[in-house]
Amino acid sequence: MSANLLIRNARPFGGPVQDILVRNGRFSTSHDDRPLAEIDATGCIALPGLVEAHTHLDKTLIGMGWFENRVGPTRNDRILADRNAKRELGINARRQSARQIAQTLIHGVLNIRSHVDVDTEIGLANIEGVLETRGALRDLVDVQIVAFPQSGMLPREGTLELMDEALRAGADIVGGIDPASIERDPVRHLDAIFALADRHGKPVDIHLHEPGELGAFCLDLIIERTRALSLQGQVMVSHAYCLGMLEAGRQGALIGSLAQERIAVMTAGSPSAPALPLKLMRQYGLTVASGSDGIQGTWDPFGSGDMLERAKYLAQRNGMANDADLEETARICTFGGAQGIGLADYGLSEGCVGDLVLVPARTLAEAVALTPRERTVIRRGRVVVDGGKLVGNLPALE
Ligand SMILES: [Zn+2]
Repeated sequence: MSANLLIRNARPFGGPVQDILVRNGRFSTSHDDRPLAEIDATGCIALPGLVEAHTHLDKTLIGMGWFENRVGPTRNDRILADRNAKRELGINARRQSARQIAQTLIHGVLNIRSHVDVDTEIGLANIEGVLETRGALRDLVDVQIVAFPQSGMLPREGTLELMDEALRAGADIVGGIDPASIERDPVRHLDAIFALADRHGKPVDIHLHEPGELGAFCLDLIIERTRALSLQGQVMVSHAYCLGMLEAGRQGALIGSLAQERIAVMTAGSPSAPALPLKLMRQYGLTVASGSDGIQGTWDPFGSGDMLERAKYLAQRNGMANDADLEETARICTFGGAQGIGLADYGLSEGCVGDLVLVPARTLAEAVALTPRERTVIRRGRVVVDGGKLVGNLPALE
């Protein structure tokens, strides 16, 4: 669905006031005399649609009552609790993914990459659920689906075949998970997922929590395979905590190699994980995206899914307070995310997809610091959220 709209008095990325025109769902500068619907942005900052580059739409517990979290502290405790919850709480991926999208749409999140569980207990049920939601809400948001072996792939026989099926069923991206600490065999795990990517012609996105030199070793293997299969611009590493844990020489060399192979890094800026060297990554020209990771689930009860708030968390995690740094975190949650997940025609320039968010703030830094909620969200030239309130109803997916 696309529309024509004139947005008066907006300030693209916090710049001078100007009118923005959307014709046939795309930004345009061609004026003619045809009457257009118009709105007055009253000096609001205009951002392109916010990009959620890493979440888990199938696992949120939004609207399911309070989950009393008694989960143990290790990653394996949490994976087990997560798998039990799917069975015991009856988490319906179709319904829950729609609930999370409804919640984040009002903040202006118009592009989402979601990891979706594939395992030998649920099979492709969650992939099918999120595919259904994606189809029903396609006029409102774009969703990329990563087939994600959350419970492990090599140790659980049959998972690799399910990943292959998921990609044939409509998943867009091959997911991977801690090649050493969960998979116990980095070379075999990475060979298997890169072979899937090569066979299906799909990108790769790997959850990499491995610390220090162990993580760096896995990154070396990822870089080698990206180069060997010419997958430059098609690989993302999610979290990559090791980048914040290495001595300066190793850190710089690794960041340089990632940038050279155009491998993107996604960081959620989690307060409980090592901070990544964002400024150094920028100096090397590395693409940095951000995401909420799971929101309001069994892993932790936190998160709104607002990517402007995520920009604030990134700044806080990295001890950033000056305006230029806050603007940089806003870029990570817009252009960085778009580049990281491979969006075409993203931005506010002529010809780009006519998606934008109007934020009532005087400067971009203020928008990040105060995260005003009364936003107006425009999708392909159509107002879908007005002053923080959804316009009309979402298709029923209960
Ligand atoms: Zn994740």
